[in-house]
Amino acid sequence: MDKPAPQTRSRSPLLVSFAFFAVLAFLLFRNGENWIRHVLVYLSQAGWARRMISDWGVAWGVASRFVAGTDREAAIATTRSMNEKGLLVTLDYLGESCTSEGEALQARSEILRLLDDIHRHELQANVSLKPTQLGLKIDPHMALENICDLVEKAKTVGNFIRIDMEDHPTTDATLDLYRRLRYQEGLNNVGVVIQSYLYRSEGDIERLIEDGARVRLCKGAYAEPPEVAYPQKADVDANYLNLSRLLLSPRARAKGVYPAFATHDPAMIDDIKRYVHTNKIPTDSFEFQMLFGIRRDLQESLAREGYRVRIYVPYGTAWYPYFVRRLAERPANIWFFVSNFFRA
Ligand SMILES: Cc1cc2nc3c(=O)[nH]c(=O)nc-3n(C[C@H](O)[C@H](O)[C@H](O)COP(=O)(O)OP(=O)(O)OC[C@H]3O[C@@H](n4cnc5c(N)ncnc54)[C@H](O)[C@@H]3O)c2cc1C
Repeated sequence: MDKPAPQTRSRSPLLVSFAFFAVLAFLLFRNGENWIRHVLVYLSQAGWARRMISDWGVAWGVASRFVAGTDREAAIATTRSMNEKGLLVTLDYLGESCTSEGEALQARSEILRLLDDIHRHELQANVSLKPTQLGLKIDPHMALENICDLVEKAKTVGNFIRIDMEDHPTTDATLDLYRRLRYQEGLNNVGVVIQSYLYRSEGDIERLIEDGARVRLCKGAYAEPPEVAYPQKADVDANYLNLSRLLLSPRARAKGVYPAFATHDPAMIDDIKRYVHTNKIPTDSFEFQMLFGIRRDLQESLAREGYRVRIYVPYGTAWYPYFVRRLAERPANIWFFVSNFFRA
């Protein structure tokens, strides 16, 4: 399926953008990767940067490595080809931090149609969504109603909804949403995400184990202050392994916890593989998850080894913040971006 490119802009904004990325590259050279990560995460949320980059064809050329396409048809075609390779999928209709009820309702309608399409095409795919896409920052009650409709719809078509985790000011509200869906609405086909960079995550995981929850464990993609999150990557990694142990513990498995280990980090993946092998944990009692376009070799080799592997496949026109967070995770991709500029 072709990925339609947004309209290309004239050269002068391109030159401004190029100068901008050249400055970023220089600062990266001088100050190191950690610093550039914070700048990029800031840019992922900055409206002025989104307006500048979003309808620029060169940016889309790079972003389309990480995004299946701008419409549902492209997402369905990508999902089918992933399924043919033995990979499961979670589909994400891109969007976050919506500012009006209309935007939230539009996202809800699109995800309802997506659930129908997954069912109609008999795809091995579930759906991930962001609470702020469904209105969390406007009105938490509206977000709950929207997400509840989606989880109920998913239930009628035998599907599952994963609530992504965003930045730390939304953590409590997101976990609260999850609990209301489980205990107030009696819905079981819903799961949450825990980030190993947050100090609070061990406590959250302990409570989720008691619930027998479906938990995705990731490191965390936002720029968080040292008051709430480990600043050092080594600590984030160590906590990731610590939390993976809790999610795979006999107590968690007895409660019915089904963990998803979302990472491209070979050190995390190898450690988890060793642990499940040593403890004779069946490979169908957890899954690995990776992002579309990242470490395809590893995705396919894990599936060939008999592990469940699910690929997070985003689609839609609101790709800018998602794309810039991917650059932030791996600033080396900035060079790829700049080299595409010269080829355009
Ligand atoms: C399926 C999925 C869902 C996610 N959901 C959320 C969410 O809800 N909330 C949230 O905050 N974050 C989410 N994330 C993002 C996550 O928190 C991390 O920001 C992201 O996965 C990068 O961390 P890492 O563990 O993959 O590797 P890192 O710690 O960033 O890197 C470790 C190693 O992994 C490999 N690697 C990492 N990235 C790349 C790359 N782009 N290309 C090639 N190799 C690479 C390299 O070998 C690297 O040295 C999700 C990630 C995945 C995979």
